[in-house]
Amino acid sequence: MSTASDVETAIEIHDPATGEFVGSVRPAGPDEVDAAVGRARTARDAWARTAPGDRAGLVRDAAGALRGVAEEFARLNETETGRPYDDALGGVLAAAGTLEQYAELGPLHRGRSLQGSWDATDLMVPEPRGVAAVITPWNDPVAVAGGLIGAALVTGNTVVHKPSERCPHLGRRFAELVASFLPEGVLEIVDGAGPTGAALSGHPSIDLVAHVGSINAGRAIRQAAAGTGAHVLLENGGNDPFVVDADVDPRWAAEQAALGSYANGGQVCVSVERIYCAAAIAEPFLDALAEEAARWVYRPSAAGEKALGPVVDRRHREHVHSHVAAAIEDGARVHAGGFVPEGDGAFYPATVLSGLTPAMTILREETFGPVAPVRVVEDFAHGLAEAVDDPHGLAATVLTGSIAHAQQAWRELPVGTVKINAVFGGAPGGAAEPRGVSGSGFGYGPELLDEMTTTKVVHWSPLP
Ligand code: NAD
Repeated sequence: MSTASDVETAIEIHDPATGEFVGSVRPAGPDEVDAAVGRARTARDAWARTAPGDRAGLVRDAAGALRGVAEEFARLNETETGRPYDDALGGVLAAAGTLEQYAELGPLHRGRSLQGSWDATDLMVPEPRGVAAVITPWNDPVAVAGGLIGAALVTGNTVVHKPSERCPHLGRRFAELVASFLPEGVLEIVDGAGPTGAALSGHPSIDLVAHVGSINAGRAIRQAAAGTGAHVLLENGGNDPFVVDADVDPRWAAEQAALGSYANGGQVCVSVERIYCAAAIAEPFLDALAEEAARWVYRPSAAGEKALGPVVDRRHREHVHSHVAAAIEDGARVHAGGFVPEGDGAFYPATVLSGLTPAMTILREETFGPVAPVRVVEDFAHGLAEAVDDPHGLAATVLTGSIAHAQQAWRELPVGTVKINAVFGGAPGGAAEPRGVSGSGFGYGPELLDEMTTTKVVHWSPLP
């Protein structure tokens, strides 16, 4: 039964750049979640039996339609979450590209065949898991939802999608656009926040929960799924280290650190969260990083400046500033930013801190804002040792000219992705598994198709 508070408390969205009211949505209560899951379950068998090429064709058509509305979606993304328009457009087009990629890969997804004897055959056949719950965040909302939904659909699953409550209008527009190409019930949408997500992920008819978001929500989902037996795919928060060796150009290292810390306002799952810089180049590195921070401005206004949107809302800004303020209180030195600006919206300046100790919250937990916390360490080995000593396991960056240091780093860092000498990038289609508290399972790439399916072995012998 839905409670009154579940269904009546509307979620309000305000533009984080201006504070203006954008709109509100009514969260789905447990009854509506149950009905959506029921429709997806009813559609399940027919969709699973639809030829993979036909399923892929519908997903490809949806991708084409998404390209047609990409600019409108990017503007809505900027209005709801503050993501600068060009970045937002990149995210929407990335979603279209991912849907097209899964439309290609889906029909090619296959198992192995084995021969136990001359006349016996074993077939390892991937089958859809059934009904997938796809629960997504706000920081790259269309690209993340597009990947998970695309992979689930092309492998024959039906989907109930709950987009983030921080961009519910965009989430619904995107899912409705894709659903308009599919048979009824194949892609259902529910609006709402954590309670709606909890009702969905704990529903007994859900066979797979794919969650991208915070560590705490991921934990709750893992517990709920333990009771239902659903397969769980968790791509959760990180605390990515960035280790700077003494032999690199400090200015280039500062550019890399700024890009990793400030892109999308530091609200990227693989944002740089903690920087370990060898003492030998710490001074020029910090000076260059403070200069870089000054180029990341609230709005692009001059050549050479880079757009830094607001963070997603004032609640999140409080979280970001709480980490910064606590560090300052405990003796950190401020090289740039570090304050809550006056005025409308939820802006936060590009910030550089040093003078940090390993126990500080800013180094131990995900800040998810435009903050570059620098810890000066004796040398590369000390930086790597501190980088390794952390329960998160998403990604890490190492800047070094030493092959031996690079080799030691990628072997020792307990993370899914190690980036050597480039803070962002990587081949399209690559995929890694997060470790530790950051989650489990492949959330991207061709391997996501394996997560979306379960393998049945058919052992086939002739009659005696
Ligand atoms: P969030 O976990 O608060 O929300 C994400 C989704 O989970 C939302 O749809 C939300 O309503 C839902 N949710 C919240 N509580 C739930 C519960 N108890 N049960 C079921 N669903 C629940 O995260 P967020 O603030 O939207 O996103 C930011 C976080 O996402 C950051 O920690 C970031 O690092 C992480 N992230 C990770 C990746 C990755 O690939 N690892 C990618 C993007 C974002």
